[in-house]
Formats: sequence, structure tokens, C-alpha cells
Amino acid sequence: MVERKELESCLNGLLGPDAYEDYGPNGLQVEGRGQVRRLVSGVTASLQCIDAAVAAGADALLVHHGLFWRGQDGRLTGWLKARVARLLAAELSLFAYHLPLDGHAELGNNAQLGRRLGLLADARFGPQRLGFAGPAGALSDLPRLSAQVAAALGRAPLVVPGDGRPLARIGWCTGGAQGYFEAAIAAGVDAFLTGEISEPQAHLARETGVAFLACGHHATECFGAPAVGEHVAALLGIEHAFIDVPNPA
Ligand SMILES: [Zn+2]
Repeated sequence: MVERKELESCLNGLLGPDAYEDYGPNGLQVEGRGQVRRLVSGVTASLQCIDAAVAAGADALLVHHGLFWRGQDGRLTGWLKARVARLLAAELSLFAYHLPLDGHAELGNNAQLGRRLGLLADARFGPQRLGFAGPAGALSDLPRLSAQVAAALGRAPLVVPGDGRPLARIGWCTGGAQGYFEAAIAAGVDAFLTGEISEPQAHLARETGVAFLACGHHATECFGAPAVGEHVAALLGIEHAFIDVPNPA
């Protein structure tokens, strides 16, 4: 059992949210009970995830996608009211870390996805240096890379081939980082992986020769929150469990 404030300072110390310009508040988003015995981690603070955390007896929930984002109008109505009401009724604290949970060099989404794929970053690129790049190693052509992604994530990626070149360097950035494709190309990678694709990236892949792989927003962001949850739980001597609420997007 630890004080919620101790968990909060442990998470903030580990993830360093002040170093990021983000789309919403990082850290404690909804305040629950003062002490934490059991921490649950998940990808998104959806109603299903909150309900599962309550059912698991959690005192705190740690997610990558929290409830509050820039551009919201601030009203607690509809689905947002339902989520907040459920958290407050259960006195379940909600901790959310967005970009800090992507960027952490060992425990973040990018580092952990790299581990699952057998990739180790030796360079960073793009806005806030969130893009990771490293040698392709054994993933030296597109079929090998696609097969490795499918095996690691349990789903086949959407692949836009480049010019068929051998892969020497691979870039990746989890989630909705399709906008990082040009920065990845400029950083000299031969293939770029992220969660989602938008229309322009298909043309860019064809015209620059750099392959683009859309591997799933949720699928690529399943590893950071549990890695951080496990780490802080071990440090503080509390329980931790990861709850996956599958998402096809
Ligand atoms: Zn995301």
C-alpha cells in the first residue's frame, strides 16, 4: 500500500511530463482514494477499461489515452460524464501519460514496440524526438519485416511497399504518427512503421521508395502502459495488472 501522492511522484519522476508539449494534461487526471494497493494499466480510459479496473479491485488506473484533450469544450456530459462518474463512484484514480509514455527510452511505447520487433533505436527523429530509428538487423526486407510485425502484434499490417530496396534502417513511432513519415524519410530510414495511415502516406511511400506500414494504433500502443505499471509497482511494492480492451483501430 502506498499513498496516491507517492505513486504520482514516482510516475512523474519516471516519465518527466514537463519535457513535453502535449495535447492534454499528463499525470493525475481524476483523483480517487488516498491510498493505492492495486494498480491497473490499460491503453485508453474507455468505459470498458474503467469497468474492468473497478472489477479487478484497482485503486488507480494508468493509461496512455486519458479523458481530457485540448479542443474539448469542457462539459461533463454524455460519454465523458459516464466515464468520470464511474471513476468517482469507485474512488478510482486516473493517471494518464500521453507523449511521455511514447517517448520513455526503455519503458515507453516506442522502446517496448522496438523490443517486440527486435529493433533497438540508435537515433531519434521528428517533433519532440518521438520517432525512433535503428538498424534493421534480421528484418532486412519487407516480407521479413511484415511477418515480424504480424507475429509480434497478432495482426497483419497494412503495407505500402517502397521501391523494394533492402532494409538497412527502420523507423517507427507508435499510434497516430503517420505525420512523422516525412521526418522518418529525412532521417534516412528504408521503412517506417506506425499505427495509422492517412491518404498522403501511400503516395509518399511510392514516390520516395520508403515503405510504410500501418500496424494498428491500439496494437502498437499496448506495451508502454504495462511496462511502466510493472516498473512502478515493483518499485513501490504494490500490485499491478494490465487489462487489454481490444480495439481494431
Ligand atoms: Zn495513441
